[in-house]
Amino acid sequence: MGDRERNKKRLLELLQATGTGNGYCADCGAADPDWASYKLGVFICLHCSGVHRNFPDVSKVKSVRLDFWDDSMVEFMTHNGNLNMKAKFEARVPPFYYVPQASDCLVLKEQWIRAKYERQEFLADEKAVSLQGDREVFLWKRGRDNAQFLRRRFVLLAREGLLKYYTKEEGKTPKAVINIKDLNATFQTEKIGHPHGLQITYRKDGRTRNLFVYHDSGKLVPLITRNYLKQGFMEKTGPKDAFEQGQVLLGSNEQGYEVCEDLPKGVRGNRWKAGLTVITPERKFVFTCPSEKEQREWLESLRDVLSSPLSPLYLLNASAESGLR
Ligand code: ZN
Repeated sequence: MGDRERNKKRLLELLQATGTGNGYCADCGAADPDWASYKLGVFICLHCSGVHRNFPDVSKVKSVRLDFWDDSMVEFMTHNGNLNMKAKFEARVPPFYYVPQASDCLVLKEQWIRAKYERQEFLADEKAVSLQGDREVFLWKRGRDNAQFLRRRFVLLAREGLLKYYTKEEGKTPKAVINIKDLNATFQTEKIGHPHGLQITYRKDGRTRNLFVYHDSGKLVPLITRNYLKQGFMEKTGPKDAFEQGQVLLGSNEQGYEVCEDLPKGVRGNRWKAGLTVITPERKFVFTCPSEKEQREWLESLRDVLSSPLSPLYLLNASAESGLR
């Protein structure tokens, strides 16, 4: 067996080796990665390898199956690997930082990969550039009553875990002070109509508020916590009432929250047949879904949320834009 064949075999074994983390992309978690950075010592998926190619000073990629690997490269991969490098490059990922998954868009993955390897923001090493200290950024924020976007100053106080925003550029009094732990931010390119659109959701005075923002260049403050488990369109049936802002707060089963997979007798959707009922201690919410597939997905997501006993209040964000009235 020649070098080429032998080394490829060793690499393929390395991908399967237990306790290495090599079976999943080091950056997005996609299963069975078949590319690798032989400069960083990680196995990655095809998509993430495309991002790595953009900074050759930091990373160099090869296909496990198609490219030639020499002995020293294989040695290097053996000694490093995904778990070891995760310990190094992800030593200090802030708790509110959103780590993308395989299904996320490339923009999100690229931000993560660049922060991790190129700017090395999460090394344990103190001298690394990091999120310590304050960050100031100007974002375009959608006005409350119209679709106009206004330039607003946002300041992230990393140590205090606060995000503030100001309506006046030099203003001293923030319009809002948001605790990072009460905040959820997700990329919303379609809703906001901008490739770097972001929806920031937070709780204030017992109510849920949304900020819709975007950044010109996409260098958004990486304050993303988690994506919504499921997002889509459902139609709410029943009387028009105190269904404030189209949102339903979800607790856990133990608190008397439940979801069942059909509609109460006598209730049917205007347009859609498939539906579900969310039961909260106060009342029932009836939703219809465009298809049975959607219905199943919603049921799954909702049951997941409701069955986690210590979860914070999750938000079923059936926002006004989804046409729920
Ligand atoms: Zn990946």
